[in-house]
Amino acid sequence: MRVLHVCTEIYPLLKTGGLADVAAALPAAQVRSGCDARVLVPGFPALRAGILDQQPVAELGPAFGGQSVRLLRGTLPDSGVVAYVIDAPDLYDRPGNPYADADNHAYPDNFQRFALLGWIAARLAEGLDPAWQPQVVHAHDWHAGLAPAYLKAAEQASGRRLAASVQTIHNLAYQGNFPSHVFGYLGLPAHFFDINGVEFHGQVSFLKAGLFFADKITTVSPTYAREIQDSEQGCGLDGLLRTRAHDLAGILNGVDDAVWNPATDPLIASHYDVREAGGKGAAKPAGKLACKTALQQEAGLAIQDAAPLFVVVSRLTEQKGLHLVLAALPLIVQRGGQIMLLGSGDAALETAFKAAAAAHPQSVAVRIGYDEQLAHRLIAAGDVILVPSRFEPCGLTQLYGLKYGTLPLVRRVGGLADTVIDASLENLGEELATGFVFDSFDDGGIGAALRRAFALYQRDADWKVVQQCGMQQQFGWEAAAAHYLALYRDITT
Ligand code: ADP
Repeated sequence: MRVLHVCTEIYPLLKTGGLADVAAALPAAQVRSGCDARVLVPGFPALRAGILDQQPVAELGPAFGGQSVRLLRGTLPDSGVVAYVIDAPDLYDRPGNPYADADNHAYPDNFQRFALLGWIAARLAEGLDPAWQPQVVHAHDWHAGLAPAYLKAAEQASGRRLAASVQTIHNLAYQGNFPSHVFGYLGLPAHFFDINGVEFHGQVSFLKAGLFFADKITTVSPTYAREIQDSEQGCGLDGLLRTRAHDLAGILNGVDDAVWNPATDPLIASHYDVREAGGKGAAKPAGKLACKTALQQEAGLAIQDAAPLFVVVSRLTEQKGLHLVLAALPLIVQRGGQIMLLGSGDAALETAFKAAAAAHPQSVAVRIGYDEQLAHRLIAAGDVILVPSRFEPCGLTQLYGLKYGTLPLVRRVGGLADTVIDASLENLGEELATGFVFDSFDDGGIGAALRRAFALYQRDADWKVVQQCGMQQQFGWEAAAAHYLALYRDITT
């Protein structure tokens, strides 16, 4: 099966969120399972610099505002997955964030930058690389949303089937909506600007285009697949998603074991594994305790194992519910707990967390920024990882927490609901619990879950059972890779 993943970020070369982890791990897992999976990415500086052995495939001349557009083919470091790179310096050769300028304003020509991505995907299905044509074009998020539309347009023009298409929603809140006048620059047939097409409340919507034209739609957890069909989480697209419900699947993301594994992780102070988390009678994993002590030292927190250490690794956005964590800080501090947050984003949240750290230096530590290595140290060191999201398509950090014996405390929403089992009495009794789950998106909801976490921390034997159960969960990419392959087969035969 020849599959082209169309995406904008790939870990470790370029990452602003979980999409990068998926775009690195899923094609690699598919290749391991015998699929000929490749990726297509814009030539952002970090991708141009990091993709190996780039050779020209085609010269395309001027397109979408780029003066000279070329398609190159290289390979991803580590996995060796084949990567097509669009070399269009006028469009992509900009420092920093791939989507926005230094003041965090979206680039005004984003519609051209990402239309080019979708257009090249369709051109590859038409035979732009004579040596390789995809049977499936798999578009990720709004940036790739026009790929299924260009593919449909090319099929209508040629009267032949070129490739099947899949649109994956990693986050429905980001839709790529632009004023209607941009439609004239896209080179799509005029009748595509329609409610049955790319039009969305008078605008052009890249994500809606993908959702409308793709043969199949997926999102990254079964619960989120249900939630986005309701108005509360549907971001205005729930009606379309309901009409396409039979083509919509929720496939849970995996975790790349080569990157996130406490037994081998080169970024943490000491290694440990599930065998050390021996359940009821056993001691806590010694390696994990060493990681906690090292982080407390590094962060200037009081060095105490008795203090449960709560950690947060997150974008600081409204979605992530971190105002609930701010509200819960007094409870954590009063009960003798500690908390360390790593994140960046919303300026007001950054300021508030920094103020809390200044007020309680022994129990609250905050690092503003994006730091992959520190993220590993935090997740290995923590006793509990907090993910109190308002909505969460899949969520990765709670999965890392499970693997690292760091009990997730999460809101029952999206992929968090699918991956964490609450430490209720009955789940504790049956040794099923893996963390703490709360429903109500308010101070009372998170507060009650935190009090349960403190109570369990006092019950050492029970804590270790929950920790061991979490560490035994399997979140490999193989299951997801097989699920996607079955879906591709459905639409190519
Ligand atoms: P989202 O994609 O909505 O940001 P996910 O939980 O799916 O949320 O993925 C977030 C990814 O980004 C995880 O791999 C997490 O470790 C990482 N991450 C988030 N913020 C930071 C940060 N400040 N420093 C390092 N890694 C971060």
